[in-house]
Amino acid sequence: MDYKTVKVGAVPVGGAFPVSIQSMCSIPFSRFRELVFQAKELEEAGCEILRVSVPDSESAELFASLKKELNIPLVADIHFDYRMALAAIDAGADKIRINPGNIGTENIKQVVKKAKEHGIPIRIGVNSGSLEKDILKKYSSPLPEALAESAKKNVEILEKLDFGDIIVSIKSSDVRKTVQAYRIFDRNNTERYPLHIGVTEAGTLKSGLIKNSAGIGALLLDGIGSTIRYSLSAPPVEEVTAAKALLRSLGLRNDGAEIVACPTCGRTTIDVSGLASELEKKLAGIKKHLKIAVMGCVVNGPGEAAEADIGVTGAAGKYVVFKKECGGTSVVLKDADRQSAMEYILNFAEKYEG
Ligand code: SF4
Repeated sequence: MDYKTVKVGAVPVGGAFPVSIQSMCSIPFSRFRELVFQAKELEEAGCEILRVSVPDSESAELFASLKKELNIPLVADIHFDYRMALAAIDAGADKIRINPGNIGTENIKQVVKKAKEHGIPIRIGVNSGSLEKDILKKYSSPLPEALAESAKKNVEILEKLDFGDIIVSIKSSDVRKTVQAYRIFDRNNTERYPLHIGVTEAGTLKSGLIKNSAGIGALLLDGIGSTIRYSLSAPPVEEVTAAKALLRSLGLRNDGAEIVACPTCGRTTIDVSGLASELEKKLAGIKKHLKIAVMGCVVNGPGEAAEADIGVTGAAGKYVVFKKECGGTSVVLKDADRQSAMEYILNFAEKYEG
């Protein structure tokens, strides 16, 4: 991951910095109090860079007020109206997302000039649904090559204006096309602009999680990408939770509670899935890394969960809690009911120092 480092507010994107987590508010500025609530919820959940749509002057006017409520960088999403980009930069945007090719030569000059004055980056966000007509005509459909060419063309517009604080995204709702487009672009990414990766319009919670995990996961394993966004038709807090879990599972993050749970089988005599889900929910906000195992039986459970810091397993319908110790595990609670086991683990997590 030899990308150039581009700073979005206080968050460095690229270089050797950790892959950052992004999300986007789904509530418009016209419902300002609700928007603030959602933005704070996302920050609390672990979102590190937050984006909001700025489609009109009312939104641009309220942008600064929203920013004051947050401690994370706030990005303005602009589509065609360069005046909204100018207003959002004046209102303190930490980055704008815009496609230079969409807004006209003279207008983009003004946007670049202001972005330079304020020292903020621009994300070029190419989507299969908004490809330039000439590129679409050349390739007949939004092929990966077409998406990568569009991104390159937009990058060149900014480079000609001597602007290099660029982050690039190239998204399709098709996982393979998305992955291929990023790979093609990255092969020719000589300036090593950091890439914001994700699969767009990926769908509802279940299918969207799968599509994003497949696409983002494949790219990150290739060493491609510096910042990620799960795009889901679901409450945006789900995007943040999923992004955190993916980064942890790829060994790119080492924070928060990681729940390991067995798939259950005929030996199971306790509520594995209910207990695992409840622990995951209750420990969603913890910052330190802690691995908790929830295993269905005492035959295989402790052995399979040897890497966990604490675990619970079933024995004839009762709950047994065990803890990691030098050279193995030791039982710390026996013949417990579900509630006592849960309380023991939550208490342990609260005091856990790592
Ligand atoms: S840990 Fe026990 S209950 Fe869970 S899947 Fe393995 S054998 Fe079955």
